[in-house]
Amino acid sequence: MEEHDVVVVGGGPAGGETARLLAEKGIDTLLLERGDRIGEPIQCAGLISPRTYELGGSSCKILNRIKGGTIYSPRGQSIRLYSNKEKAYVIDRAEFDRGILNKAKAAGAVLKTGARVVEVKQANNRYVLKYVTKDGEKQCGCNYLVGADGSGSFIRKAFDFSTPPETLLGYGSHGHGADIPKDELIIITGEQVAPGFFAWIIPEGEDGGARVGLCIPSTKGAPVSYYRKLMLHPITQKYLADYKADKFIAGKIELGLLDRCISERCALVGDSGAMAKPVSGGGVYPALVAAKELATNIFEEIEAKHSGQNGLENYQSFIDRKLRPNISRAMSGRKIYQKLTIEEIEQAFSIVKKERVLDHIVKKGDIDNPMDIIPGVILRAPKLASFGLSILSSLIKR
Ligand SMILES: Cc1cc2nc3c(=O)[nH]c(=O)nc-3n(C[C@H](O)[C@H](O)[C@H](O)COP(=O)(O)OP(=O)(O)OC[C@H]3O[C@@H](n4cnc5c(N)ncnc54)[C@H](O)[C@@H]3O)c2cc1C
Repeated sequence: MEEHDVVVVGGGPAGGETARLLAEKGIDTLLLERGDRIGEPIQCAGLISPRTYELGGSSCKILNRIKGGTIYSPRGQSIRLYSNKEKAYVIDRAEFDRGILNKAKAAGAVLKTGARVVEVKQANNRYVLKYVTKDGEKQCGCNYLVGADGSGSFIRKAFDFSTPPETLLGYGSHGHGADIPKDELIIITGEQVAPGFFAWIIPEGEDGGARVGLCIPSTKGAPVSYYRKLMLHPITQKYLADYKADKFIAGKIELGLLDRCISERCALVGDSGAMAKPVSGGGVYPALVAAKELATNIFEEIEAKHSGQNGLENYQSFIDRKLRPNISRAMSGRKIYQKLTIEEIEQAFSIVKKERVLDHIVKKGDIDNPMDIIPGVILRAPKLASFGLSILSSLIKR
């Protein structure tokens, strides 16, 4: 049986980055990816921050640079935010993932595509995995196991991990023929098109290329039916009257971060640990940040000949310190948002639509840390705090 120090299951950004960093530190690492082609099918709108682009090794083309956008309320109020700084990049996600995997391979990690893990067992302080390839069933063993196998993670289900509290379902398309400012994205909210979350139109660059899509909580039904409504919505029609979809994307985002992301010598990273940002559903940034910490922790453990005092607790403690506070705040925010009436959402929009509030959001807004602007927003719009309190007390009674 093939033996490795570490087996990483999943070749998305979380798994690829963990494997790259481990291999660069000289750790014998095998990565198993069920897909034949890395990054496909695409389950992403491909919008990431410049910081995330650099973290991922800057090895794919930047298709567009976004400086702002317009957010529409359910009844069509709009807030336009525009900065002279680039706030986000539009990328080809498959190329981005391949860039990370190529670096992992160059650093010495062994990569197997078309290798779906179907069984994992713990025996004598080791993990033994069974995986299926086109040549039949194979086995491998390892000291450390990394579950980077995305939402619905097989590794998460195989061990005693908790289940994420919320699941979003996403559906969308990449196409051409959009009439939209080149460096601004459009966000549309409301029960009609994306109850409990939002819909997006992202310009892909010159020539009317665009990505259109939405996410909704899994309790709201099928996202494809909302996509149809989105395409007929008057705001969408304003930008997409001549839009033609070239390909469709669909996927699932689990939210709420697991209570524990480690179990003995096994760790979950990225979507398998439900690390995506609850405000936007963006998961590439937290996946890369967590992968770096996990690879460091596993390396230290191996260097200490597996006798480190804390096992993978350093990784868990990083997750608890650096990711959990923002995710917990955002999950509480989501719970409130989902209970608001349309009138209350419209009222919140009008309170926020003040020049000094918008200036603050433009200056400080960071798609990787969306909750950081909240104190400054409340400071500039104190009415929002009293509005929030009245909403909270009415929600308790509802
Ligand atoms: C509609 C939609 C739009 C999104 N848009 C954005 C966006 O614009 N920006 C952003 O930052 N995030 C976005 N996200 C979220 C983002 O795609 C994920 O957070 C990100 O891909 C997480 O990376 P990961 O490596 O943890 O998981 P994944 O990228 O899902 O990688 C997991 C990998 O594991 C493999 N795998 C699964 N099971 C097995 C198995 N049993 N054996 C072997 N391999 C296995 C899968 O094939 C996959 O390649 C979006 C998500 C959706 C659904």
